[in-house]
Parts: sequence; C-alpha cells; structure tokens
Amino acid sequence: LLQQKLQSLFKNLRGYGKLSEENISGAIREIRLALLAADVHYQVVRDICEEVKQKALGTKVLESIRPGDQFIKIFHDALIEYLASEKQGLSTERPLRILLCGLNGSGKTTTAAKLALWCKKNKERVGLVAADLTRPAAREQLTKLASQIDVPVYAPEKEEKIEAFLSRALEQTKQDRLSVVIYDTAGRLDLDEELLKELQLAYSVVLPQEVLLVIDSATGQKGVDIVKAFLEKIPVSGLILSKFDGDARGGAAFSVKKVTGLSVLFLGTGEKVEAFEPFRAERLVDRLFGFGDIVSFVEKVEAQIKEESLAEIEKKIRSKQFGLDDFLVQMRMLKKLGPLDQLLSYLPGFPGKGQIEIDDKKLKRIEAIVLSMTPEERKNPDIINGKRKLRIAKGSGTTVPEINEFLRRFDSVRKLIKKFSASKEGFKFPFFKN
Ligand code: GDP
Ligand code: MG
Repeated sequence: LLQQKLQSLFKNLRGYGKLSEENISGAIREIRLALLAADVHYQVVRDICEEVKQKALGTKVLESIRPGDQFIKIFHDALIEYLASEKQGLSTERPLRILLCGLNGSGKTTTAAKLALWCKKNKERVGLVAADLTRPAAREQLTKLASQIDVPVYAPEKEEKIEAFLSRALEQTKQDRLSVVIYDTAGRLDLDEELLKELQLAYSVVLPQEVLLVIDSATGQKGVDIVKAFLEKIPVSGLILSKFDGDARGGAAFSVKKVTGLSVLFLGTGEKVEAFEPFRAERLVDRLFGFGDIVSFVEKVEAQIKEESLAEIEKKIRSKQFGLDDFLVQMRMLKKLGPLDQLLSYLPGFPGKGQIEIDDKKLKRIEAIVLSMTPEERKNPDIINGKRKLRIAKGSGTTVPEINEFLRRFDSVRKLIKKFSASKEGFKFPFFKN
C-alpha cells in the first residue's frame, strides 16, 4: 500500500540531520517508486519529483525543525498544489441540472443518491431522474435509494423513448420548482459509440450546467483514457471519485488532473448514501500519506519562531548564561506553538509528555514573578534568598511557596538542558540547532 510505504519512508527521512543533495536524491527515488506503485501517471510522478527536488534543494533548513520533517512538508505542499483546483464546488445557477455519466458499475446510481442527499442537506429542493433506460433494475435501484433519502424520483413510463422522457422530466421538475435535478444515466461495461451517442442526446435535451463523470477509484491510469473519451463527446465539467474507501485509492486523482485538467469535486467513501464528501486536496493528501501531524507542526514552527532570537538563546544556553529572562521568552514561544504535550511528543529524547505544563493563568503569574525580580536576580537566580522572595511575592501578587515552586522548576529545566546539551545525540528542543 502506498500509505505504508510512505510511512516507512518518512520514518527514515525523519532521521536526517541535514538536507543534502545526496539524501534528497535518495528520498526522491523512494517517492517516485511509491507513486508509480500507486498507479500515478508517470508524467505526474516526474513533475512532482522534479518540483520537490528543486524546492528541497533551495530550502533553508530551519534550525528548530528536523530536516526530514521539512522535506515531508515540501512534498506535501507539492502534492496539494498539484491537486488544487480553480473550480470550487458546483455551479451556482438555479435550477441546476446535473448529468451524471460513467461506465457501468462505476457508482453512478449510488452517487446520484449521495449527491442528492448532500444537496438536500444544503437546503436545496432536489430531485432525481432515472435516465438509465437500458436496465429496468437501475430504475428500481434509484427509486429505492430516493425513498431512503426522501427525495422525489422521476422515472420513464413503459416503452417511453429516452428523448421524450427527458423532455417530460425537464418540464415536470420545472413545475415542481426543484432547485437541483440530478440525472442518472446508463452506462456500458466499456466505452462504446452507442453509450456516447446516448449521452450526447441526453446532453442536448437536458442542457445541464454540470456534467459529472463518476470514476471508480480503483481504475488508476485507465481512468485517464476514460475521461478523455468522454471529453471528446460531451463537455465534462468535473469528476467524482467513487469507492475511495477501497484498496487501490490514490493514483487516479493525480493522473486525471494532470492529463485532462479536470478536478475531482467529490469523493464517494462507502456504500451508504451518507458516505460522500466534497473533495479537499488537503484531506486527500493527508489521508493518502498520513503525515498531517508532521506538516502542521512544521507550519507552526515556521510561522511563529524567529530564527535570530533562537540563535541567540542557543548561544546563551551553550555559554551557560541561560537565565530567567530567557526562560520567560522560551515559555512564551512554546506557548505560541500550542498544546505543549503534543509538541513535546515530536521532540526526540524528550523525557515523556507532561514535563512542562503551561496554561495561560500560570504563564501570567510566572511573568509577574520574573518581572518583579531585579535584572541581577533574573540573570543569577541562585542569589534569591528568603528576603528577596518576600519582596518578589509582594511585587508580583504571588506567594513565596509559588516562587519556590517556580524556581525549583527552573532549576530542573536548567539541569535538563545541561544534560542534553552534553549528550552526543543532542537535545533537539525548539531552540536548539542540530
Ligand atoms: P452504476 O452502474 O454506475 O450505476 O453503479 P452503482 O451505483 O450501481 O454501483 C455499483 C456498486 O458499487 C454498488 O454495489 C455500490 O454499492 C458500489 N458503490 C458505489 N459507490 C461506492 C463507494 O463509494 N464505496 C463503496 N465501497 N462502494 C460503492
Ligand atoms: Mg446505475
């Protein structure tokens, strides 16, 4: 599975100390194999790999992030950019006519009901048209689904020809003042002229604003040929990837986008009518590759840490001048990064979660304590005796036990820092260079 392969690849990548040309090439090679194995179009694989390589080589590695994590972020962003579309959602015209097409078994009928339910939830007056006249079972299937979601269904009468039926349905849905009408059409086992002719006919009668092509996620690269063939006959406006919950998920979305320029608008994620969601590149990529956590961590660090101040603090720590002022700055910085437990779990060698808790109230009190100290005391907390503690407590509106507790904590942090900066593997706290 693509996901498993990449997961193990990422594990290896995360160990990198530096982004060098050599380990970038190695990582790119792995990514290429993984994407190809997922049946992503070779042109797409080539494009993505090239872009990731260029970006990775040109990236200044942030001091506080493991290079492997940063590489993953670059890869992630390239994938998202690749999938992102200009077309957002469905046409806003009303009444909106949507024609669904696709091969037999791709999931059209199921998708028609899913899309209807989704529109209904979005406060539309929606109806379904059973325009698959080739199989009587198809009409029954749609009728059953429609009653399940409580949506009206329009079906042909016995012996009624497709053209006559569609004209009638068009008129009827207008009279019923529906805002969205979804036309489920017939498919074939394979692309053939008859299927495409029938679709063209349906298109010319209904004149839909949206023509959505349903593709089975497992189709892989063959999906590209299918889309191309449909596009030659009918102006497909968007894609729906069905059965995204299956095994062979992945390649199709990238390949189709590259070759046809068409975007995926929705994903079908199960057999139930509720198993349907608007397509989001972010969500797809995260689900495929499972690196959402790393990416959001890198984003946070990138957004909120200034490298200069980090370098300075690091120098201080190395020269053992790390005082309470610095500690306060550190705590503010850490707090900005969000829940600390989560953050700490990213840091290799950090002795478990929950070692430092910072909540707003506590931070405010600690700030008050530090600010009530003299510069001398902040630089060298060892000189703070009982008398000084009383003064600080008064000045900060806190208590002596609180100050004792805080100083104890600071001392243990200082010891921790000393211990880790002395160790070989190094202690990669946000303020440390690797
Ligand atoms: P059609 O011939 O294109 O109309 O396809 P159908 O709607 O009849 O679907 C064919 C089969 O695929 C049915 O058994 C559906 O239950 C199943 N199916 C459709 N969409 C999904 C999906 O998103 N996930 C899963 N697991 N099955 C689906
Ligand atoms: Mg069908």
